[in-house]
Amino acid sequence: MVEVRGVHKEFGRGADAVHVLRGVDLTVARGSVTVVLGPSGSGKSTLLRCVNELEEITAGSIVVDGERMGYREDAKGVLHRLHPKVIARQRQRIGMVFQRFHLFPHMTALENVMEAPVQVRGMSKRDARTRALQLLERVGLGDRTDHYPAQLSGGQQQRVAIARALAMDPELMLFDEPTSALDPELVGEVLAVMKDLAADGMTMIVVTHEIGFAREVADHVVFMDQGVIVEEGAPAQVIDSPREQRTQEFLAHVL
Ligand code: ADP
Ligand code: MG
Repeated sequence: MVEVRGVHKEFGRGADAVHVLRGVDLTVARGSVTVVLGPSGSGKSTLLRCVNELEEITAGSIVVDGERMGYREDAKGVLHRLHPKVIARQRQRIGMVFQRFHLFPHMTALENVMEAPVQVRGMSKRDARTRALQLLERVGLGDRTDHYPAQLSGGQQQRVAIARALAMDPELMLFDEPTSALDPELVGEVLAVMKDLAADGMTMIVVTHEIGFAREVADHVVFMDQGVIVEEGAPAQVIDSPREQRTQEFLAHVL
């Protein structure tokens, strides 16, 4: 589903360049859950943002469901940047959930979930509403559809954000520390929704420090440090018997 090959990302140019991703290779199987662990500043968010074309990569390639993100290779092997409209269409296949929920504050939960299908896809309000109600029901918010974000807890807002991402029928969902901004007692309800989504067969890449979630839900665990993947494998291997010292040190801090 996702093939990341030799990806580099530098911010800025010349002497001021910051080399954040330093050759990342990652394969994500369709229907699988990949959890990305790693210390702050290791490049986890940048990697997700590159997969989603929020950032343009400096070198390498990212292929999602057989389509190269952001570029077309011509017969001579020369790369051409795709038209922004084509990139926008590619990006629509990928849902993203952030640490901060970024809901529209002046819209109800229902309106937040309806917005993209109506505005971006041109779906009728009636159909978008039906679908949004189903999705809010699915994330356990069937009784909060007319609430505004300020009237919802952080956990509820994050579940609205997940429903909103799902409203575009993504093939891939990216989660960037979706529970890090939440009070501890609200973390479980968001993880439960993500677990349910995983059980339903969604392909997911999840950046999180929730080791319990990684152990229970992940098919594949990746440990990143300083812009490279240091170690990856089955959760039991990476979490319970890490081979690399950097992984061991990181886990000693978060466990
Ligand atoms: P993580 O999510 O693992 O904490 P990030 O991907 O957010 O790490 O950041 C990795 C490094 O890239 C950090 O040193 C950060 O300062 C740098 N970085 C991220 N975004 C930018 C940017 N837009 N411009 C310059 N440096 C950036
Ligand atoms: Mg981050």
